[in-house]
Amino acid sequence: MRSLPCFLCALVLGTAHAQPSDWQQDYRKVDVAEGVISFIANDSPGGVVQGNVTLISGKRYSLVVDSGQYPGLARRMIEEIRASGAPPVRYLVNTHWHGDHLMSNFVFQQAYPELVVIQHAETARMGAKTYADWATKQMDELKAYPAKLDKAVATGKTSKGVVLTEDQRESFRVDSALIKHWLATSSDTRWDAPDETITETATFDLGGRSVAVRHFGKANTTGDLVVWDANTKTLVAGDVVVAPTPYSFGSYHSEWIEVLAAMRALEPARIVPGHGEVMSDDSYLQQLSALLTETRTQVRKAVADGRTLEQMQKEITLPDFEKQFAGSDPARIRAFRGFYLEPGIPQAYKEAKGEPRSE
Ligand SMILES: [Zn+2]
Repeated sequence: MRSLPCFLCALVLGTAHAQPSDWQQDYRKVDVAEGVISFIANDSPGGVVQGNVTLISGKRYSLVVDSGQYPGLARRMIEEIRASGAPPVRYLVNTHWHGDHLMSNFVFQQAYPELVVIQHAETARMGAKTYADWATKQMDELKAYPAKLDKAVATGKTSKGVVLTEDQRESFRVDSALIKHWLATSSDTRWDAPDETITETATFDLGGRSVAVRHFGKANTTGDLVVWDANTKTLVAGDVVVAPTPYSFGSYHSEWIEVLAAMRALEPARIVPGHGEVMSDDSYLQQLSALLTETRTQVRKAVADGRTLEQMQKEITLPDFEKQFAGSDPARIRAFRGFYLEPGIPQAYKEAKGEPRSE
């Protein structure tokens, strides 16, 4: 059951801590700094998630970082942006290619015909590879997906005969409800190529305010962009920083550690993560860097000792870090294991072996 589309960020282990029947994807509008507003997504109980969206306004134009993947929420954000008196959104920067950060681009394009969508060239490449047939093919597959999950829940095993644990059954139940909820309001979702791509740095003049877009290197994906507002020392980090527990699908441990160091060197006063609450210092970045370093150290040692990947996935559990990131909350523990350790160890293993890593 790993065939869920990547945009859902949904994998085998969900994070069930609310009844999906009464849960709605939503956001909170947060004043981050002068002229900077973030729409912070609430925690999903399962694998269908929404990324944070941030608005930075100058005197003439506004720039939006990411669009999320719930079109209804994007429409509401646009109403709020208009009501706030902010100047029109001229630029939309996507931090990376995962759909929970860009599938609602089209809503902003419809609302602002002059909009220029900017992505790293790698984000454009991965987006095209993953989503070009979204509206024509993948949407139909997604519509059929809840029934498959429901059947697995009812029979207690997957279509391939793999018996589900009680935890997996619960997460399948939650994800089925979340996908139905998403489909009910999002069936017009589509992917479009960006208007401009960059590979290193670009600066956008919003009128009395200059905003920098930087690629510090590979980290969470091959084409991560961060947005830096020097006026207020606000850093919008995308999924290079996800809290309370990080995502490591298709990630690059060594480069990620360097990217975090480059981010800390900016001395940000505020950090808006891709998911999670706004941060007022870089302590979480240090914590994350220590986690990545320890993962890399343990995987390198295991490779040197001749352990197989399968053995490492059982043996490397990082209990102290799990406690530090997830505490004793069962949902967070499942997220730490399912969204960080499970996808991250194979990536660190490939790096240690000098093999190409998954995108
Ligand atoms: Zn995300």
